[in-house]
Amino acid sequence: MTVLAVADHRRGDLRDVSFELLTAGRELADAAGTDLHAAVVSGDTESFAEDLNREGVDHVHAVEHGEEFNHDVYAQAVEALADDLDAEFVLVPNSVNGLDYAPAVATRTGRTYVSDAIDLAYDGALEVTREMYGSKVETTVEVTDGPFVVSIRGAEWPAAEGVGDAEVSTFDVDVDEDAVGSTVKGFEEVGGGDVDIADANFLVSIGRGIEEEENLELVEALAETTGATLSSSRPIVDNGWLPKNRQVGQSGKQVTPDVYLAIGISGAVQHVAGMKGADTIIAINTDPNAPIYDIADYGIVGDLFDVVPALIEEFGGE
Ligand code: FAD
Repeated sequence: MTVLAVADHRRGDLRDVSFELLTAGRELADAAGTDLHAAVVSGDTESFAEDLNREGVDHVHAVEHGEEFNHDVYAQAVEALADDLDAEFVLVPNSVNGLDYAPAVATRTGRTYVSDAIDLAYDGALEVTREMYGSKVETTVEVTDGPFVVSIRGAEWPAAEGVGDAEVSTFDVDVDEDAVGSTVKGFEEVGGGDVDIADANFLVSIGRGIEEEENLELVEALAETTGATLSSSRPIVDNGWLPKNRQVGQSGKQVTPDVYLAIGISGAVQHVAGMKGADTIIAINTDPNAPIYDIADYGIVGDLFDVVPALIEEFGGE
């Protein structure tokens, strides 16, 4: 019995969730008294494998095959690895990529599939915590019928750190090319350029309190003055004022910046689901009872049209 954590990468970079998987995997491996194996499929496997060799990882496997993610290649590679390692737990990110192959691996290998876990515990049976009803409630369910494939939500576990002393090796998979039904032809950026708010250390995030699209200039000026990246709640994106890749929340992106400055954002559960992992949360809101203050470390109860210009001036902007 082992734990296998499968990394996620996109266009040459390992995604943060890959290192969070290692933390979740180490916890499970400790609970089950077994080893943690990490795996990376495709891309620059040599440097990815080196980066995945973090504290707590016992073995890193690199499967060389093409550059980018491919559903069919991943399904075949992870299936072969999981069987070879007798993996009781196959952990994958609950990302677009992970969701693309995890159910196939579970079905083909006779494993029970559990999606979107935000917490895991193991004591002979697997306990999985998930959110339900649009993040309004959390449920913890016991799943007894292993082995398992579990997709975990990003930003719920801290990233594994340090340099480990794992054994790193290449795992050869005889990929059935006839069963590979798609190839990546290229990438086309959607609006918003190459900004990834999930990578930002400081986010200035704007909500419906901004009232009008033309008022966005004000928060853009604050972001520029402070060197922050601009993000938003969903209504701003629904209005078409910012592109979708700026949306934080359950149906947007999960972010874990050092500082999250929420301006004119009420703190609805679906928004909080995407940013509660920030180190320091600061809120600016006219309503002292706004739910955002329940999770904020610091708050300014005030009108953003007064507070934001004052902040810009304080930080030396115009
Ligand atoms: P509001 O809730 O309208 O809050 C605006 C806030 O601004 C208020 O608290 C108000 O007091 C304050 N304000 C007003 N004027 C000022 C001023 N002058 N100065 C300072 N403060 C002011 N939402 C997301 O954000 N991300 C998601 O991913 C997401 N996914 C969803 C998925 C589902 C299935 C559902 C049902 C909903 C989802 N939502 C999501 C929507 C969510 O429920 C809320 O409607 C949304 O987060 C509210 O955005 P908001 O805080 O900007 O607006």
